Formats: sequence, structure tokens, C-alpha cells
Amino acid sequence: MSRSALPRRWRRLPAATAAGVALLLLAGPATAGTAAPADREADAPAVLERSADEQADVVEVTVDGTAQLDALVATGVDLDHHVTPTEAGIVVHAVVTPTEVAALKRMGYRVGAVLHDADDSARRISEREATIAAHRAENRAYTATLERSAATSDVKIIRADYYTSGTNQVLSVEAKWAQGQTSTSTLTVARDSGPGTEIGSGGTQSITRFVDAGVYLYHRGAAAVTARPQRIQITSPTGDVAVAEVKEWLPIPADSPEGTGYQKDFVTSYLTPTELYDRIKRLADAYPQLAEVVKLPYQTNGYRRKAQVVLGGTAATRVAVDSLAWGHEGGNDITVELADPGAADRPLAVTVTGKAVRVSLATDAAGAVTSTAAQVAAALTAEAGTLLRAYTYRGDAGAGVVAPVASTPLTDNLKAPAGVSRDPHPVYAIRIGKYRDGSRTGVLAYAQEHAREWVPPLVTIETAERLLRNHATDENTKQLLRTLDIWIVPSINPDGGHYSFYDYASQRRNMTNHCAPGGATDALARNSWGVDNNRNYTEYSLFDGYSGASPSCTSDTYAGPGELSEPENRNVDWLAQRPNIKFSMNLHSSGNYFMWSPGAYATPGRISAPRPTLAEESFFWGASSRILTAIKRHRNMAVTPARTGPISDVLYSAAGNSGDMLWYRYGIYAWNFEVGTSFQPTWEEAHQETMEFSNGLVELLRVARDYDKDRKRPTSTLAVAPSPTEGTVSVRFDVSEPAAVFYTLDGSKPTFGSTLYASAGIREGAETLTVPVGTRVQWFSVDAAGNIERNYRPDDDGSRTFNRGWATLPTG
Ligand SMILES: [Zn+2]
Repeated sequence: MSRSALPRRWRRLPAATAAGVALLLLAGPATAGTAAPADREADAPAVLERSADEQADVVEVTVDGTAQLDALVATGVDLDHHVTPTEAGIVVHAVVTPTEVAALKRMGYRVGAVLHDADDSARRISEREATIAAHRAENRAYTATLERSAATSDVKIIRADYYTSGTNQVLSVEAKWAQGQTSTSTLTVARDSGPGTEIGSGGTQSITRFVDAGVYLYHRGAAAVTARPQRIQITSPTGDVAVAEVKEWLPIPADSPEGTGYQKDFVTSYLTPTELYDRIKRLADAYPQLAEVVKLPYQTNGYRRKAQVVLGGTAATRVAVDSLAWGHEGGNDITVELADPGAADRPLAVTVTGKAVRVSLATDAAGAVTSTAAQVAAALTAEAGTLLRAYTYRGDAGAGVVAPVASTPLTDNLKAPAGVSRDPHPVYAIRIGKYRDGSRTGVLAYAQEHAREWVPPLVTIETAERLLRNHATDENTKQLLRTLDIWIVPSINPDGGHYSFYDYASQRRNMTNHCAPGGATDALARNSWGVDNNRNYTEYSLFDGYSGASPSCTSDTYAGPGELSEPENRNVDWLAQRPNIKFSMNLHSSGNYFMWSPGAYATPGRISAPRPTLAEESFFWGASSRILTAIKRHRNMAVTPARTGPISDVLYSAAGNSGDMLWYRYGIYAWNFEVGTSFQPTWEEAHQETMEFSNGLVELLRVARDYDKDRKRPTSTLAVAPSPTEGTVSVRFDVSEPAAVFYTLDGSKPTFGSTLYASAGIREGAETLTVPVGTRVQWFSVDAAGNIERNYRPDDDGSRTFNRGWATLPTG
């Protein structure tokens, strides 16, 4: 109400009655009940009294001058600081009740407009409440959208990760869309450009379906951005909306776990398996108190081959010859000649002179050669069977007439220098730790299951060097060696490794030829043999019906004739049997992946090996972020979120891989590195990759140490939120660290047999339970190191320190 709106009529003072005034007087009888205020006696002021059950309003009162104002003040009236001289007099604001107003009027004061009444106050209060509610609603709108989208939207954002890699800024998004199996639509992600900015102001990006083995997993995609977004929003093709906060992936903390003077950078070139083993022997010799070399129980088949040759051109005329002796044990000295006798009507004849084998071919009446490949092969095996075996080419009938061939040596085709042993090869590990008696938490790192992967072995050597050479001066390293029992195998597959270095760079497998007679056993198939050592293990293997390994002896993913058929694999199995080993790293290249189980699924249907529990998965993710942060420290290379996770989620199925055996059969937290960008990069790049992944491997050791030292009990809380379903609420458990939660909803005491709180789905994090309002929830948590919340003993009837809660919404 504005002053100009004051009704003029209030300027006239109405007459007051004595009776009216008397009601209001505190001190004595009214002295001048009928007098105008200005006339009243100063020594007997009229005093206003307020009744407690009345509201006071702000009312304008106009007095003629300061004398009347003083008289007004003397009544005890509640004036605010508003005193405005006007033409009509001095206007003041009095805070008075209706009774007081009446009294003032009776005293002759000119009481004007009500400026502010109790209703106004009530309105202010409701305005205030509305404003607060609006703020709350604003603040909650995002959460509500989150909850609503989580509960009802057909699109769910699984991850939104911002990260830097090199000098790039990237936003990586993964989301699951309910129609993803049947619709090929991409999803559009709108992003803001930082805190407080509009969705969309940072641009948009498309994410596409990730479908594997015919099964839709989720949408994913990464895009370069120019600012770190805070939130993203996806509107699905059906109009449903999902929003999510963007998290920073692998931020690099300022403090480094490497103290000043920490030494690194110990490798200066690629190393062959022979050199790798020599290196760990020298290291162990230099640090006898801290390390030893262990010869693993199973020797390989050896870097050796039979001497072979294939004579002839077309399949029907070819004769394949293999020595009985290994090439280096005499096979390479054998020669074979197919000679035209140069005369008519000669029989097929074989002569053996020392190791020179001469076949005189049969001729017809015209002197033309008539011997077929099958006849020559049979004659060779019959007549020179102490030296060799001959056969037609890959099961061919061998009906073609052979052509004469000059004396040709058989050869094992192996080019490694003599310093590379041709004998069955021991596989060596270096065992590092102050206490190598099995009493410490064990960690296993092993490389070069795949022969052509030349960088991973260097990562293990660099790591062994760092541990031993920093032990004397770096407290952190000293602690690792005091706490852990570290097994490092730089090359699991030395035969294949040597073959890759000296003969066939692309060799992936070991060197053992399992092809059956009549198959690809001849010299021309020599680069197609071998067992894929990362497909020959026992869990979820080809032999169990899982996908991603081959039964073909010439396939690069050949699983071998049976589980653990290969000595290389039996060695890993032997290592994994060490009961103290709790963590492992299987180092491969390439692709900059970081993965764990499950590593295999069966098709059709993409039936995965069992997924880790939510707690296990959280532990994998938690440790992963540490390990990947350590890797990133070297040159800001980020292993991407899309390449971090279970093998079968981010890469492909690999039946019978070693990580799965270690995880499922032995309960080891088993990780897999895919180091770098190629199998045999330039040395400069190989060196960088070695440094960064050694950072990661050392960090795995720190994870193991922290696990070993972990005596801290987890804590957990129950979070209850509204549910879209009437009469129910949504319930989640929040834990202080990666921990399993076992719960009951029927009032019974929770035990290890109770329901295990699970993840919502692939890469989705914790599930949300929908339970009837008022459900009694009882639970406890246990961390990866086995510490149980509140010292509760689930197996002890007397122990009652589990958590209790009710599935009810917080009030207010
Ligand atoms: Zn590999």
C-alpha cells in the first residue's frame, strides 16, 4: 500500500469517550478522557495495553506536531522508525492491535490506513515457504529427474566420464536403452559446458550400440570436448529423458607415491626370453636377501623342430619329408634327391649313403619318369625309415608324377643363434620379497603368454628392477618387499618368444605342432602351429563349450588338445596354486585395455561366465582407478573407461583364458593388461609403454599391500527413496568402501547365507530394491579383506551387532 493511497478522511480525529479510555489506562483514572491528546496532562499519560490474543497491524498515525508525537510515544505505543513530516502532520507507523487502534482513536489520534496486517504476515510466510519450496524443488529437480529416469525412463546412463589423454579432452558416455536390442538407433547426448550452464551449451555427441555375439550390451561413444561438462542429458527416441553427472576419469593427484630419488628406467632395448631370464638371474644374484630365481616345474617342448622339406609343385606331386631327429640333433644334415635315372624301364629305388638319401625314379619304356608322389613317399619311408618319414601333401592321394629334384637339405628352419637353447626350456620366475616363505600376501605378474607381444615382458623386468634397486632408499618400496611375496614371470612362452624374435615375428602361440598326420604337418605349415597359451586353461574353456577359442591346430586361438595340455599353462596353474597368492596381472599387448573376469561367454545367447559380485566388482573398479592413475602419471595416457572392465564386456570372449582360471578356480583377483598400441612398436614408444605400465604394476603391488594391511571395518547405510509403485519404496545400501552387503527383509538375522546385494546389470553399479513401505531391513557388510562391519559375527547366534532399518521415507 502506497502512502499516496492513504485515505484523507483519517485526518479528522473522532471524539473519544471516557469509558473507552478507562479500559486502556494503566496508571490511574483517565485525566482527560474527552480531551484532545494535545490537551492532556503530561504527568498522567494514557498508556496502551495489548491483549495477547490479538494480532498487531502496522497502522499509520498522523500527529499534528512533536508535542502530540511525544504524547503518543508516552502511551507506550509500539512505533517503528518511520517518522515522516508531511503537510498534514507527522506520519508515524504504529504496530497496534485493533483494540489499541480503537483506544488511540478515542484518545483523538488520527489513525490512518492499515499498512500491514496479520494476513500480510501470513502471506509473507507463505511466500517465503513457496520460495524455499521452489529452491528445494529446483535443487531436487535434478535428483528427481535422476530418480524418475532411473525408475521409469527407458534410457539409463551407466557412465559419463570426462578425461584428458595427452593434450585431448574427451567425454565418454555409456547408456543402456530398453529398445537397444531391437532398434539400431543411435542416442544423442547433450552436454553442458560447465557448472551452471545450460544442457546443450557444450554441444552434442552420438553414441552407438555395442552389440556382441548378437546381444545388445549398451550404447557407447567418446567425443572430443573443449570444456569439462558437468551434466549430460539423453533423450531417447521415445522421448524419455535421462540425466547424469559427469565424473572425472583418472584425475592425477598432486602427491606422488614415488619419493624423491626413486629410481626407474632400467630397460634399454627389447629382450628375448633368453635375455629376460638372464636378467632376472643377475638381479637375484645382486640381491640374494631379497630375491631368488625359481625354475618352474614344467619345461617347454623347446625351441626346436624336426628338419623338413616339401618337394614338388602341385599338391598331387608333392612329397613331404620330415626327419625323425630334431633338426639340431642331426635332422638338418639329411639331404634328399629325386633323380631321373636317364634310362628306360628303371624301377623306383632308394639308396641311403650316410645321411644322403637318393631316390632313383622309375621310368617307362620311353625313359620318362613314372613315379608318383605316393610311390616316392612310400619308398622313402620304407627304405630310409631310420632317418625320415615321407608322406603325400596334406592327405592328397599323391597320384601326380613327381619331377626330379636336386639334392635338397632338410631343415628345421630355425634361425636363432646358437646361444638360444634348442632343448626343452625351463621357465623362470623371479620371486621378490623379504619373506619368501608363503607367509605374506602373494602377487603374481606374468607376461608373454603370446610370443609376439614384446613390450609386456619389459614391464615385468622394469618392475623387478624398481623393486630391488629402490629397496635400500625408498621406504614405500621397502614396505612392499616386507609385506608381499612377489612372483614375476617375464616370459611364460619362451619357445614362441624366441621364434617371434628370430623366425616369424607374428608368432602368437607356443611352437608345439599338434596337427594330425594328413593335416598341416609339413614344412610349409610351420608358421601355423602352436597352442594359444591364453586359451588352454581350465575354466569356461572351449572344452566347456565357451566361445573365443578354436579346435583347429592351425588357428591362432587354438585351445590345444585338452585343458592344460601345454607345459606353459601347467606352470601358471602351479603358480596359482600358491595359497598366499591373492592378486595377479596377466600382461599382454596391445590396445591399452585393463580387464578382469568374466572373460568368456557361451553362444548363442552370450551366456557369460558368472559375474563378480557387486563388492568384487567395486573392488576391481577401485583398484583399477588407482592402477590406471599410476599409468597415466607417466605421460597422461588414459586407459579409457570403454576399455576398462570385464574382458567379455569390453573386448570379446576368450574361452579358457588364464585370468578366468585364476579368478574362478583359485579366487585370485586377476587382472589383465593390454599394454600399448601395437605388438612391436618403435623402441621409443616401447620404452614409454614400459615406463607407464610398470607404474601400473607397482601400483597393483600397493593395492595388495593396502589389502594386506586393511583392518578397517566397512560401514554401510540404508538409503530409502520414493518408488513409482504405490505402497513401495526404493532401497539401496551405501558402503564406505568396496564391501559385500548381506541382507534380510523378513526380520531374520542376516548371515553369509542371506541375500547378497547385487549390481543392477553390466557396468550399472548397485541395484535398487523395491520393497513394501515399512519393511524391516537387517544387514551387514564385509570388505574385500574380510573385515566385517561393527565386529558382527554372522555365524554366532549371540552376535547381534548387525544393522537394522526400516524401509520408510524420511519425513519432511
Ligand atoms: Zn596377448
